[in-house]
Amino acid sequence: MTEQKPAINMDDVDLGFAAEIMSYPGGENLRKCFACGTCTAGCPISEIDEEYNPRRIIREILFGLRDEVLQSPAIWYCLVCYRCYAHCPQNVNFPDLMRVLRYLAIKENYARPDIAERIQEIDKRLQILRHDLIKYDLTAAHESQSSKG
Ligand code: SF4
Ligand code: SF4
Repeated sequence: MTEQKPAINMDDVDLGFAAEIMSYPGGENLRKCFACGTCTAGCPISEIDEEYNPRRIIREILFGLRDEVLQSPAIWYCLVCYRCYAHCPQNVNFPDLMRVLRYLAIKENYARPDIAERIQEIDKRLQILRHDLIKYDLTAAHESQSSKG
């Protein structure tokens, strides 16, 4: 059974949070989101982590849940691949919203200051691993075909 989230405490709501996010480049269309879920359905991170949900993050911003959003590890999981933006019927630029959230999370000490560099390093290592695995796989397949022929 899915664990129920606690009710929203109105003392924790920041009514200016959404407007603040919208004041940054890329945040302009935030309020146009009508929660269709297309972003979540096509997201490669949501595919491997059912807790990662772009649509829910947008709802949390709109509800003013500043602390919850900025302290969440979820804002660092996004690949900034723009797949969700390409398919959003309302032109909500979720990856750029993520950039704003990350900027604010570091600025307001919700996240360690070197986190962006650390994630860049992780991404680079993953690219090297991907490249080497594909190369290994293709070489092994080629050698196997040559030995048959
Ligand atoms: S696809 Fe766009 S409109 Fe639909 S939930 Fe995601 S951000 Fe909102
Ligand atoms: S930009 Fe982020 S949220 Fe959008 S599809 Fe890519 S990984 Fe998912």
